[in-house]
Amino acid sequence: MTTEETSQPVLIVGAGHAAGEMATALRMNGYKGPITLIGEEPHLPYQRPPLSKAFLSGDITTERLYVKGPAVYTNAAIDFIPNTRVTAIDKAAKTVTLEDGRTLSYGKLVLATGGRPRLLSLGDDRINKAPNLHYLRTIGHVDNMREQFKPGNKLVIIGGGYIGLEVAAVARKKGIDVTVLEAMDRVLQRVTAPEVSAFYQQVHGEAGVNILVNTALTGFEFDAEGRVTTVLTANGHRIPADVVIVGIGLIPNVELAEQAGLALENGIAVDEYGQTSDPDILAIGDCSSHPNAYAGRRLRLESVPSALEQARSAAALLVGQKKPYNAVPWFWSDQYDLKLQMVGLNQGYDTVALRGSPANRNFLAFYLKDGVVLAVDSISRPQEFMVAKKLVAERVKADPMVLVDESQPLKALVPAAPAPAAS
Ligand code: FAD
Repeated sequence: MTTEETSQPVLIVGAGHAAGEMATALRMNGYKGPITLIGEEPHLPYQRPPLSKAFLSGDITTERLYVKGPAVYTNAAIDFIPNTRVTAIDKAAKTVTLEDGRTLSYGKLVLATGGRPRLLSLGDDRINKAPNLHYLRTIGHVDNMREQFKPGNKLVIIGGGYIGLEVAAVARKKGIDVTVLEAMDRVLQRVTAPEVSAFYQQVHGEAGVNILVNTALTGFEFDAEGRVTTVLTANGHRIPADVVIVGIGLIPNVELAEQAGLALENGIAVDEYGQTSDPDILAIGDCSSHPNAYAGRRLRLESVPSALEQARSAAALLVGQKKPYNAVPWFWSDQYDLKLQMVGLNQGYDTVALRGSPANRNFLAFYLKDGVVLAVDSISRPQEFMVAKKLVAERVKADPMVLVDESQPLKALVPAAPAPAAS
């Protein structure tokens, strides 16, 4: 890389988890040119996972959400433009337009635009205007729901995925009356085996959450102020609600990339270094899809570990180092005192083997295909999860009888590292 190339301005659109890591990693890698983060939210890069956990419960403050304090960016000479949306990219001129009309030039542009909540679309305009119906993606969303998130209120959660269930756990701890509507026949249906879903349904049931599966939402009733009063379902339930929280998925923010004519494929299509179809534009985090060696196909992941690793690969590329993003996907979710950690993708599994017992509230679920460990869910077994990550990464073939036998250490299944070559 020439000195000229490592001193041109880098503009990072979005100021979320991926963007913050990209900016600081770039400086740590010795990048000399101007680096600017442009975010439409008022905040420095912050962690979203606590939004449905410790931040929602009020256990941590906004300051604790920030990935790094303001001094880190100042000291690294990283400019931050908050409250500002980027509205267009001109690839030929290598500029972006901001919503206030300004135009900024870039040498390299990084799209780290994340995603936005999928909205309910039941053909009723009142739904997404109701002051007591909320989505959950930003600090602002949590601030808006705080006053209604209080003991004694009736909360209806639409969607039994991670976010819905994490919110349910926090709400129950606060003494809120909670009903979860899930259209499928079990919670976490998209990501876990029936055994794991059944475990979580039982845990939530014991905590007093009313989970209604096979229950499609059909609409709402509103009061004169436009507030939801009742949630209506296809099987005839009429559920009174003081507050509704919707967690039905994410839409990646790809509009800027689309308007600029970049290749899209379930997200902004990038290679393993974060490079888009334009040589001067990269994309990282939830908005991007990358060729994943482990999965053998293109993936768009919505997870912090993936956002961070992709940012590091892209930051390396801009200083001329090739460090492909090549991680096995993993994720976590905290509900009550339980830590769920998941590694790999379980699609296509033919066998599930449980190590430990759900009754003891800590166990592992191994997903196998033709004897190969595809994925593992770990419930409150963090040490064995570290080993499980290796089993998945190495595509270990394992006998389910051995996996379930707790007298046999999992570590014994990890292939030995190859001996160093003799000199
Ligand atoms: P984001 O964090 O979404 O940041 C993108 C930023 O870009 C946003 O601030 C957005 O406003 C801004 N932006 C978009 N378009 C523009 C534009 N045109 N101009 C300017 N700015 C723009 N992951 C886990 O691994 N574990 C968890 O337990 C977990 N829990 C979660 C709980 C909740 C409630 C949520 C919402 C997410 C959770 N996640 C979790 C997912 C994780 O937070 C995301 O994967 C991660 O934030 C992705 O980072 P990102 O930088 O790609 O996108």
